[in-house]
Amino acid sequence: MITYDHIMVRFGELSTKGKNKKEFISILFFNIKHALKEFPDISVSSRYDHIYVHLNGHEVEPVLSRLQDVSGIQALSLVHKCENNIEVIKSSSLELIKQEEGKTFKVKVKRGNKRFPMDSDQITRVVAPVILRNTDLKVDVHNPDILLQIEVRDEGTYIFTKTISGAGGYPLGVAGKSMHMLSGGIDSPVAAYLLMKRGVTIECIHFASPPYTQEAVIYKLEDLLRKLNRYQPWIRLHIVPFTKIQEAIYDHTPESYCITLMRRMMFRLAARLAKRRNCPVISSGESVGQVASQTLQSMNVINQVTSIPVIRPCATMDKLEIIKIAEKIDTYEISIRPYEDCCTIFTPKAPKTSPHLDDVELYESKFDYESLINEALGNIEVKFIE
Ligand code: ATP
Ligand code: MG
Repeated sequence: MITYDHIMVRFGELSTKGKNKKEFISILFFNIKHALKEFPDISVSSRYDHIYVHLNGHEVEPVLSRLQDVSGIQALSLVHKCENNIEVIKSSSLELIKQEEGKTFKVKVKRGNKRFPMDSDQITRVVAPVILRNTDLKVDVHNPDILLQIEVRDEGTYIFTKTISGAGGYPLGVAGKSMHMLSGGIDSPVAAYLLMKRGVTIECIHFASPPYTQEAVIYKLEDLLRKLNRYQPWIRLHIVPFTKIQEAIYDHTPESYCITLMRRMMFRLAARLAKRRNCPVISSGESVGQVASQTLQSMNVINQVTSIPVIRPCATMDKLEIIKIAEKIDTYEISIRPYEDCCTIFTPKAPKTSPHLDDVELYESKFDYESLINEALGNIEVKFIE
């Protein structure tokens, strides 16, 4: 019995990227090697616009499952590699198709190697009859149960019948870095994952308000980030002491405006840290209308503290859609662990859903938040999650 010995990695969106393509492929190559580092007997090679994973006898399922998390991969084909010899191609094709279930088939040939003496049509015309003679399969060119694909390349011929979809998006690292606001909730880890899928690397900023918030929140964040390590192997987490700022806000602001001011301070801090850490954008798990601080009017007033773009990948998603992704990336169970967030502790009974900038600026003029911000930025604790 012959087996699938390679996985062929296909890029999808990358193919359209012209001259950046080379760099994209080398980043993806690195990411794939990293994702497979727990399988030391597996090797990876790159040729033109394909990457091949050499199974070297390894079981395929765990490797495929790992590769399905790597962003920038459009599809994965399980392939058998043989020499560029039509007799071998015929016998291998027959062997492979016999292992498949179905009643109908179609042969599809691509010839990248122009030195091969037969063109794709001729190859099809010799392979298909061998299958017809030696199996009960019938040809169906429109809707075959089994699509037998043969790709003749310089280094050998690849034969395959199974292609599964990959994560899509861009390879992590091609799109720069975002300073991501990570709370312990459901939305922000999902937003982080969506950014990673677009090739964006993240650093995280978290606002902690001890003793109102507990150390357990940090463990929770670490657990969440360890789940995200599947998509980004190293994540830097900045923990910003937020207690003094929060207390100052509550001492000087009417209750209904506290959340608005608090979020403006968060954005100021995130923007300043983003600049320091060379992140051209910040990001959050905000979703339009979800809570008082996420109405459009609130977002407008809060966002005015900075000109740095804020990416909100969950902005238009329903909570149920967000939860579905959280379940897929396995962060949901961690996110719903009970915890005290700095937002939940001071949550006013009736937060403003349409705050006014004039009022906000008046309340902010009542205390020296600048020096509190500088103090907080000087006392950041950094953790690396890998
Ligand atoms: P999540 O949105 O992660 O489920 P949440 O809904 O409790 O948590 P919100 O109060 O809706 O959070 O805040 C919206 C966004 O603001 C969060 O998604 C997160 O990006 C950011 N944020 C809120 N609290 C914090 C915090 N303590 N530290 C860092 N970022 C925070
Ligand atoms: Mg939320």
